[in-house]
Amino acid sequence: MIENSQSEIHNQKSVVTVVGSFAVGLTLRADRFPVKGETLLGRDFDMGPGGKGSNQAVQAARLGADVEFVARLGNDNFGAIGKKLYAEENVGATFLVESDGRNTGVGFIVLDARGDNFIVLDPGANALFSPDDVERARKRIQSSQVLITQLEIPVETAGYALKLAREANVISILNPAPARRVAPDILKNADIVTPNETELRILLGRAPDAKVNAIDLCDELLQMGVQRIILTRGARGAMIVTREGYLNIPAFPVDVVDTTGAGDAFNGTLATYLASGMPLEPAVRHAAAAGALACTKLGVIPALPHAQDVARLLRGD
Ligand code: ADP
Repeated sequence: MIENSQSEIHNQKSVVTVVGSFAVGLTLRADRFPVKGETLLGRDFDMGPGGKGSNQAVQAARLGADVEFVARLGNDNFGAIGKKLYAEENVGATFLVESDGRNTGVGFIVLDARGDNFIVLDPGANALFSPDDVERARKRIQSSQVLITQLEIPVETAGYALKLAREANVISILNPAPARRVAPDILKNADIVTPNETELRILLGRAPDAKVNAIDLCDELLQMGVQRIILTRGARGAMIVTREGYLNIPAFPVDVVDTTGAGDAFNGTLATYLASGMPLEPAVRHAAAAGALACTKLGVIPALPHAQDVARLLRGD
């Protein structure tokens, strides 16, 4: 593996296609959670765009990638929030499909005084996102350097995107979040899988808290045809696992304000720098820097870093 991140090749425009989810999050805070039938007064209401696919697409665009986001929204006011975001952030929206009969994905988040949360999600249009929708973006996927997808959409839709990428020799990344079990015939089309430790266990059909060695589980994925696993480990950084062995990439120490979105920053950044021609190890270091920066601000979209922020943290100034 490349030891020196100065030896980066980073000379082509990153062409990235993200196949994933969009949802609007409605968050408010109360002193405690309500009990059954109770109405409580809350405060600090906030509404903003989210969804792992959408966040990763915005992250890639902030780093200067040519990015298209392939997704399904509702034909409603919440869908308009997504389209406004993509226009502002330079995310291509040519392959967004609108469902007339189904709402845009939405999440209700209640935080208590301690910061614990309660979340109810309605995937809405994301649940209707189909392989046919992805097929419409076939040419775009074929002409990308990297395709990235996640599991907030039907697994067969994510699987179809990975298959199109594999057939065209495009680097395919599966960020297996939220945690779901995925069949080997889908996993085998992912060049790179980026789970956290819980997602790794669930992906392979183990209990979320099963006492198993992460490296053994990564070996299972390698046997299935996955080429590299990047295990994200929060404040402990990330680990690259390949057939040749494993390599720890340390986390960048930062003042943590809110870790939400660290995984999306990490994945959007990994996709962008790999698409630029950068080798895996420095690309993972850039991703870890972006993940760390995403922890330094409240919320997800406001916290996703730009290229110069990532470069500054990597230089250490
Ligand atoms: P997820 O949110 O998907 O579980 P992680 O929490 O592992 O993902 O975060 C993704 C990456 O972001 C980590 O691998 C790490 O590089 C970086 N990161 C996350 N939390 C921190 C932290 N507290 N300090 C520094 N870097 C962090």
